[in-house]
Amino acid sequence: MNGPGHRLLGMASALELADLAGWPLLQTAGAVAIAGITAHGRTSPDVDQFDIWRHWLGRLFPAGWREHRGTTHWWGWQALGAALLACGWLAARTYAPAWASWWWLPGAVLVGWTSHLVGDALFGLGKGIPLRANGDGHVGLMCFKVGGRLEQATTWVVLPLALAFQAWLVTGGHAADAVTAALALLPRT
Ligand SMILES: [Zn+2]
Repeated sequence: MNGPGHRLLGMASALELADLAGWPLLQTAGAVAIAGITAHGRTSPDVDQFDIWRHWLGRLFPAGWREHRGTTHWWGWQALGAALLACGWLAARTYAPAWASWWWLPGAVLVGWTSHLVGDALFGLGKGIPLRANGDGHVGLMCFKVGGRLEQATTWVVLPLALAFQAWLVTGGHAADAVTAALALLPRT
């Protein structure tokens, strides 16, 4: 998936999570910004396209794992991150409640990274994301190319509209209130 598409998908995912969790506006804005930043570029799974990966971080892994859409795009890292986050949150809630209220910061990073994998699983002709930690066994739709019409429409029409709608719901009250209000407008028979 292209860069703007990744960022918009990350932001929309964080906005959805914030709306479902009922976060205050400032926290919501922070999560959306973090997810947008970590959904693309050096701070995303695409770090495998930058020198910091080629010369430093990538060297922690065997040579065959380091290619683009290799181990950095493996779903298992996200699952591990989510499990660690859940354990950290539970421990903090029990032993240091003040820290438990900050779990959303790494949570937003996780949302950005996970949305990146979703975008790459959907778009990229014959590419997908790896099933295995070593970057092998790619899965995904694999039939929609990066730069194709569907990807462009998703990036420049679907995602901006979704974000605008979500932002309207978040700023105008909770999603449920909007749905209730919409239902109230329906003609009664
Ligand atoms: Zn990628």
